[in-house]
Amino acid sequence: MARVAVVTGGTRGIGRAISETLKRDGFTVVANYAGNEEKARAFTDETGIPAYKFNVGDYDATQAACARIAEEVGPIDVLVNNAGITRDGTLMKMSYDDWTEVLRVNLGGCFNMAKACFPHMRDQKWGRIVNIGSINGQAGQYGQVNYAAAKSGIHGFTKALAQEGARAGITVNAIAPGYIDTEMVAAVPENVLEKIVAKIPVGRLGHAEEIARGVSFLASEDAGFVTGSTLSINGGQHMY
Ligand code: NDP
Repeated sequence: MARVAVVTGGTRGIGRAISETLKRDGFTVVANYAGNEEKARAFTDETGIPAYKFNVGDYDATQAACARIAEEVGPIDVLVNNAGITRDGTLMKMSYDDWTEVLRVNLGGCFNMAKACFPHMRDQKWGRIVNIGSINGQAGQYGQVNYAAAKSGIHGFTKALAQEGARAGITVNAIAPGYIDTEMVAAVPENVLEKIVAKIPVGRLGHAEEIARGVSFLASEDAGFVTGSTLSINGGQHMY
């Protein structure tokens, strides 16, 4: 039986590449999305992968959705916490809502999803959790106290949960992407982006598929001895 993998925010950007790569590598994949129906429909039409709409920042909604996925597709063996948002601004300009929302979705989403998936993984003594952090969680970034705090939190969450899962055959790892050519980065002004690319030793943005390959390795049988680690995929921009 193919393992069931859930990719949050799996219908576009990096998440879409992860969903497609995991499917190609033999997993039964389910993607999640927040509300962009057009992208979700196109994704399912083109890939044949089902997409479930729910807000990962909503605890009750995630528990209900994961129970529905378990019933309709199968219990979740592999969890990829990829859904993320930005609400950038300097501290002086950032609203309390922008602070809490980014924490709630990016970091809270990891907790909510792990809560729903961990019991089955523990019972079957096998599981894989891959959390998508960020170079900006490792190094910090001007105008992103909310995002950097959430992503930095993901790296701590990963190391703590890895210790809880180790004896139960559950690995928990993070990937810290650098700047990847998705819609999230397309929102960065061009002059700022040029300066960013100039600081990347390999001299270009990363591709979503390059993150997806890392996720697929961490989700594989071969990665059973890798846990609590962070894989930085950033073109050498931050050597951590
Ligand atoms: P995109 O903005 O392209 O896609 C985000 C995805 O997350 C969408 O599928 C979106 O759904 C979903 N999503 C957003 N909020 C929620 C929510 N509350 N509940 C469920 N799903 C949600 O992002 P990227 O592909 O660029 O980024 C993916 C991950 O990688 C994020 O965690 C991001 O922080 C991280 N990252 C990205 C980098 C980059 O350079 N792009 C660099 C470092 C880290 P919908 O389509 O319905 O809106």
